[in-house]
Amino acid sequence: MRAAVLSNTANLTVQELPDPVPGPGEVVVAVSLAGVCGSDYSLYNGKFGVPLPVVPGHEGMGTVKDVGSGVSNVTVGQRVVIQPNFACWDCDICSSGMDNICSEKVRLGIDINGVFAQYVKVPSRYVWPVPEGIDDQMAALTEPLAVAAHAVKILPPAKGDRVLIIGAGVIGLMLLLLAKLEGADLAVSDL
Ligand SMILES: [Zn+2]
Ligand SMILES: [Zn+2]
Repeated sequence: MRAAVLSNTANLTVQELPDPVPGPGEVVVAVSLAGVCGSDYSLYNGKFGVPLPVVPGHEGMGTVKDVGSGVSNVTVGQRVVIQPNFACWDCDICSSGMDNICSEKVRLGIDINGVFAQYVKVPSRYVWPVPEGIDDQMAALTEPLAVAAHAVKILPPAKGDRVLIIGAGVIGLMLLLLAKLEGADLAVSDL
């Protein structure tokens, strides 16, 4: 497959890599669309300090190409989005139900090869079918939307609350839309 490989800091090139093969409980997704995140830029600039090379990218959607043994939640050909942080399910944080902030989590596109490639291999519990009626472009925004939705859920703003959003990037704009739905009185600041 072709993949964008970050070999060294600020050195990203398209290379040929072996096609990933799913092990038990894993699926291989043919990536249709991938988002570029601020953290991809930090990774590119060496701010993560993780071992390289790695294929970056964690915001992706595509079609299931292949499934390993024991996979029952998705089938080949199905459109899916990828949830990009894989928890250990074994530590105290995971046991308390907060697996989203597991300290042992494996981060797609940072610790292991991500979605800036034709194919990506992920645990089947971290792929979610895309309902009909949601197109590929919208589905590709699921991960940043989840970040914004989580923030609004933690607040949550009451009708008429004054809310300041700092930063009008993808997630900031999603926060704007979601907080507006809650009836908040909004201001957004950016450069
Ligand atoms: Zn991201
Ligand atoms: Zn854990």
